[in-house]
Amino acid sequence: MMYDRILVRYGEISTKGRNRNKFIDRLRKNVKRSLSDLPNIEIKADRDRMFILLNGEDSAEVGKRIKRIFGIQSYSPAIKVEKEIEKMKDAALDLFRSIHKQGQTFKISAKRSDKTFELDTNEINSTFGGHILRNVDGLTVDVRRPDINLQIEIRKEAAYISAENIRGAGGLPAASGGKGMLMLSGGIDSPVAGYLTMKRGLEVEGVHFFSPPFTSERAKQKVIDLSEKLAEVSGHFALHIVPFTEIQQAIHKQVPENYTMTTTRRLMLRITDAIREKQGGLAIITGESLGQVASQTLESMYAINEVTSTPIIRPLITMDKLEIMDIAHDIETHDISIRPYEDCCTVFVPASPKTKPKLEKVQNFESYFDFDELIQKAVEGTERIIITPASQRKDDPIDDLF
Ligand code: ATP
Ligand code: MG
Repeated sequence: MMYDRILVRYGEISTKGRNRNKFIDRLRKNVKRSLSDLPNIEIKADRDRMFILLNGEDSAEVGKRIKRIFGIQSYSPAIKVEKEIEKMKDAALDLFRSIHKQGQTFKISAKRSDKTFELDTNEINSTFGGHILRNVDGLTVDVRRPDINLQIEIRKEAAYISAENIRGAGGLPAASGGKGMLMLSGGIDSPVAGYLTMKRGLEVEGVHFFSPPFTSERAKQKVIDLSEKLAEVSGHFALHIVPFTEIQQAIHKQVPENYTMTTTRRLMLRITDAIREKQGGLAIITGESLGQVASQTLESMYAINEVTSTPIIRPLITMDKLEIMDIAHDIETHDISIRPYEDCCTVFVPASPKTKPKLEKVQNFESYFDFDELIQKAVEGTERIIITPASQRKDDPIDDLF
């Protein structure tokens, strides 16, 4: 293909007023990182669009990668030409020939921000449309639903010709909006919750509770594999692995069985909150969905949430399982999540957890034991690992971020 650049449109960033430059800079870094192994790429970002100069790199490969990057509304592979009509005609025809298939219809869409250009938009349409019709056999124009919409844009510095407008991932650039801690189990829901939060520009770190020997190394590996998928989206992913066995055993000694689930969740939340504070985060993210299981009734959330006033983001709260699974398939976490290995909570799960726990009761049960010390020990024993996407393992893109 003859494209020499990709034109990137920002979308939602463009409404960001005074912070706009910060958002654009963040996006530029994220794009740069995702293309860091393609040595010839150059990136030019200005206020209303970004150009990725290919310098010989493959436009389809670059397109595939930037399609996942948040903060991009749409993009178009394009060629830049001097604003000289004969040269533009040649370039338009060459590009058209390289993409056109027998029987396809077309139209020209002209856009002219440089009002000094010698042709107006109607004249551009007829001049270039006519030129292509004369040179390609059996071609017809369809202005309503053309197979190929050849866009010719006249700007001050040059003309740009493109034929496709490809939808991007939308959202806001990763890591442009502060940090949140994702409570990441091995299940289907929490990776999806993490992904959706990243889409709003948050930097997300994972916190996983691990209870060896009741949960196996393979259960831990599953969470690492899920983290790797999230790292594909954000460039890197920090995962905190919390040793939780001792606390779970203490809970089972201290708390009546039908309240163990409530206390387990409360303590997980307290530990996550302590790790959040250490890491400078401002929110906690979970994969909870209203009514899905005993711990996710409104009464349970009320009793669990009481341990912290930190904002808890629950992106899946009103989604049903099928909607969640669709996203899990899209982001390729679904098949990892359904691997059968047990999670710390399934091992200890009581036969009949309270679906409507009472706050005063759970507070009372917890008051006979000093969990603070165990919480502190768990936080201190937490391991933090940085996970990079498989596609970028060879270099070290992390420096660029901090
Ligand atoms: P998931 O599919 O994310 O596991 P779930 O539907 O199985 O969710 P629960 O097991 O009740 O629901 O967990 C609710 C939320 O609590 C999870 O989405 C996750 O955010 C958090 N959570 C559960 N178990 C763990 C764990 N071992 N480590 C970290 N967070 C956990
Ligand atoms: Mg689960």
